[in-house]
Formats: sequence, structure tokens, C-alpha cells
Amino acid sequence: MPVEKIQTLIIGGGQAGLAMSHRLSQRGLEHLVLERHRIAERWRSERWDGLRFQFPNWSVRLPDFPFPHADPDGFATPGEIVDFIRAYADFIVAPIRCGVDVTRLRRRAGASGFVAETSHGPIEADHVVVATGPYQRPAIPASLRDELDVFQAHASQYRNPAQLPEGAVLVVGSGASGAQIAEELLQSGRRVYLAVGQHRRMPRRYRGRDLIWWLDDMGLLQRPAEERGPERSLPLISGALGGNTIDFRRYAAEGVTLLGRLQAAHQGVVSFAPDLAKRLAYGDASYTIFLDMMDAHAEAHGLDMPADPAARAVWPDPHCLAEPLRRLDLGAAGIGAIIWATGYGFDFGWIDIPVLDSRGEPLHVNGVAAVPGLYFLGLQWLSRLNSSILSGVGDDAADLADHIRASCHHPKIAGEM
Ligand SMILES: Cc1cc2nc3c(=O)[nH]c(=O)nc-3n(C[C@H](O)[C@H](O)[C@H](O)COP(=O)(O)OP(=O)(O)OC[C@H]3O[C@@H](n4cnc5c(N)ncnc54)[C@H](O)[C@@H]3O)c2cc1C
Repeated sequence: MPVEKIQTLIIGGGQAGLAMSHRLSQRGLEHLVLERHRIAERWRSERWDGLRFQFPNWSVRLPDFPFPHADPDGFATPGEIVDFIRAYADFIVAPIRCGVDVTRLRRRAGASGFVAETSHGPIEADHVVVATGPYQRPAIPASLRDELDVFQAHASQYRNPAQLPEGAVLVVGSGASGAQIAEELLQSGRRVYLAVGQHRRMPRRYRGRDLIWWLDDMGLLQRPAEERGPERSLPLISGALGGNTIDFRRYAAEGVTLLGRLQAAHQGVVSFAPDLAKRLAYGDASYTIFLDMMDAHAEAHGLDMPADPAARAVWPDPHCLAEPLRRLDLGAAGIGAIIWATGYGFDFGWIDIPVLDSRGEPLHVNGVAAVPGLYFLGLQWLSRLNSSILSGVGDDAADLADHIRASCHHPKIAGEM
């Protein structure tokens, strides 16, 4: 059987892989997209029902394809995002094969290019774009998980409150997922404990405009990767409940018990670091600094916007901050479930090419890997702040498509970094 050959192989049929397909089609370049499950699989099966897209409808777009909506200031459901991405695949007439898993990627022996071993046989390609997502594998601290004998789920497995056994819930992690799930559980009538880690809060709206309008107007969405600071926590924003500002002091006033970072677990008892005050102070300071930045921007550009003193109102210190719990007996507290909102790791073990660092992270410059012909797309800060965001991935895809086109005409360019 002759081995199938293609000029460019795109691995992953999410928003990034499809945007890449469109950019290659626009340049008349032959390609094929492989997706191991279905188009937009992670929006279908790794997001919870109450999640809302974090960006307002007016700002949501894929290249040449705006998000259809009736309410510009609304926030889409995961189902609406799936429909949008599927419609995009139809719009661009993507050459995609679903149900094909790439199990190994290696270099072609004795020649340039690659061989992708798949569940449906090998495919050879001159160029490969890896678009398998910024959030690939749920990260749960196994040493803590294994000590605890209650229902446990990662945020990517959480669907809704009814899925959980009765009783109180411990949510571990205070990124956008943990914060939103904790609020949703509280609203459903659950008693909620939330272990808070390092976080950066941002206002949902300020002075009459949504945060995304500000980030765009201030040029921050396009901020280049070289200007990324040492801070690694993602900003805390939510489109749920009509889009509100996440404020853990408000959560506490509404009944959530805030805790420090989860440190240890033993025989059903968990303990927490004495760092809750520090974590909240950091989150509050980042919030205030951002308000100041927006004010400075408005002033510098003579923007006529209403004042917004309510945004600077501070909820009082909650009781759980004055006397933070250091230990919690899950049984005694009636906790029947733990949600691990502890983030994600990479899962590039199938790439059998020396292009990963010691932590398993890809070595690349703006998505162009150190191995000629290999590319990554859709990763956090690939080239800019908005690289892993639905509305931002198309710009990176265009840059990579230009690089591929140039190397098709001048094969040596692929090797120049
Ligand atoms: C909880 C949560 C909320 C988010 N909310 C927003 C938001 O509101 N707005 C926003 O812009 N971004 C958001 N993001 C970030 C980002 O938009 C999503 O993670 C999005 O799914 C990334 O799209 P992608 O195409 O880069 O990757 P993915 O959606 O992860 O798609 C990658 C695809 O590759 C496939 N795949 C993986 N490995 C292989 C293989 N070996 N062979 C074949 N196929 C493979 C997978 O099945 C998957 O379908 C959110 C992320 C999370 C986790």
C-alpha cells in the first residue's frame, strides 16, 4: 500500500486547527486536518453546562467569520461555541478527517518532512502544525487526591451541581474555572469551601465598557510574547450570570468559606497554608492597579467616559479571613465532593522528535519550532497575549501559513529561525 502524502498536516480540529486550515486555503496550499474525536471536542465534552464564553458576543470571531448573535453584550454558551466552530468548518470547507488519532509523530527517515502514525495508518507530510490545544491534560496533585476517599472530579469533568453527591463541596483552585464553579455551586444551594491560590482579578466592566473593550483599546490583547512579564496566573474573568466581576470577598459575604492554598491531605483531613490574606491582597492589588491603568489610558486619550466609583468599593474582611481554617475534616464538615480546578498540563508524549524541553513544553519562536517544517499553534502566549483565545488564533495562523508558503518556495527558509 503506498503511504498517503500531504503537503501540510494539521493535528487537531478545534478552533486553532480550523483557523490554520483557512489560512492555508487562502494561500492555495494543500493540507489535511486530523481530529481524534469530533470538531471542537473540548468545547463539547470538557466544559461544564453553566460556563459562559468569557468574551462578549460582539468581540467573538474566527478569521472572516463573526459570531452570529442577537445580544452583542451577551456571553455564549459552550453549545453555541460548538455550533459556531462547526459552522466555521463548513464555511471554510475544511478538509478534515474526524476520528483519526495521531499516535506518534516522527521525522521521515533519510529525508526532510515527517511521518504521522495514526489510528488509520501512516501519513507523510512536509510540514506539520500541532494544534492540539493549550489545555490538554487535567493536572491534579496525585499525592493529595489519593489520600481522599470522597467523590473527586477535575474541572474538565465537572458538568453541573446535580452530578455531585449530596453535601458540601471543596473547590480547590481559584482560577477562572474554580471561581465560576464555586459560585455556581453556592447558587445551587451547596455549602462551598474554596481553597484560594495566586490570582489576578479584573473588573468585568469599568466606566461603561466591558473589559475586552479596554484590553483591545489599550493594545493589550496584541501584546507580544517578548513583553510577557513573570506573572503566570491567567486573569480572572467570567461570562457566567450575565458576566460579573469575580471578588472572593463578595463570595465570602454570600456564604463561601475561603481557605488558603491546599497543602496536604491525610486520612480525610486536609490542611491549608496560612496564606489566604496574602492571596486576597495580591488579587485585590492587581485589580486596583488595572483600574488605575484604565483611568490613565482614558485620560491620556481624552476618552469621555463616566466615572465608576462603585468599581472601587471594597467588601469588608470576611470572618474566614480573620480566623482562617488551617485544617478541615471532610467527614465532619459534610464534604461529599472535591472539584480540582488545578489547571492543565501538556500531553506531547506522542511527538517523537527532540522539540520539547525538560518540562515537556515545546521549543519554538512564535510557533515556529526548532525543527524545520514543524509548527505549534494555539498555545498560551505563542506570539501574543491573545494567541490561545478564539478571536486571536487567526493572526498566528496567518503568520504560520506565510512561513509555510515561503518555505514551499524557498525550502531553506524553513530552517532559518
Ligand atoms: C474552562 C475553559 C474555558 C475557556 N474559555 C474561553 C473563552 O471564554 N474564550 C476563549 O477565547 N478561550 C477560552 N478558553 C481557552 C481556549 O479557547 C480553549 O481552550 C480552546 O478549546 C482552544 O482551542 P484549540 O483549537 O487551540 O484547542 P482544543 O480546543 O483543545 O482542540 C484541540 C483538538 O485536538 C484534538 N487532538 C488532540 N490530540 C490529538 C491527536 N494526537 N490526534 C488528533 N487529534 C488530537 C483534540 O481532540 C481537540 O479537539 C477556555 C479554556 C478552558 C479550559
